[in-house]
Amino acid sequence: MQPKHVHISKRAGTMTIEWPDGTRSEFTFEELRKACPCALCEEERKQNRPKLWIPEAFQLADAVLVGNYAINLIWVDGHNDGIYHWDYLRSLKTPEPAASQEAASEQS
Ligand SMILES: [Zn+2]
Repeated sequence: MQPKHVHISKRAGTMTIEWPDGTRSEFTFEELRKACPCALCEEERKQNRPKLWIPEAFQLADAVLVGNYAINLIWVDGHNDGIYHWDYLRSLKTPEPAASQEAASEQS
């Protein structure tokens, strides 16, 4: 599923995705970096040695759309291998109903 809108707040340290079914997913930068789908971070998680997770790792430097299916998050520590597919982001946590559409019906 492709987002209707993506809002990144560097001040709040969050990325909020609004989905076309009226739900939204809000992630902190730390959550996103710890869920980085690249091979290096996957290895890092597997070996339980989060030496990559220094404070700079949780500050977002930039975000670039990849086609219409993913977003590439670039971190202040220089890490830029993470291509986050929208489906992956949607599966990371259960989307909440958007505040303005609390009566939105399920359309999955
Ligand atoms: Zn990574």
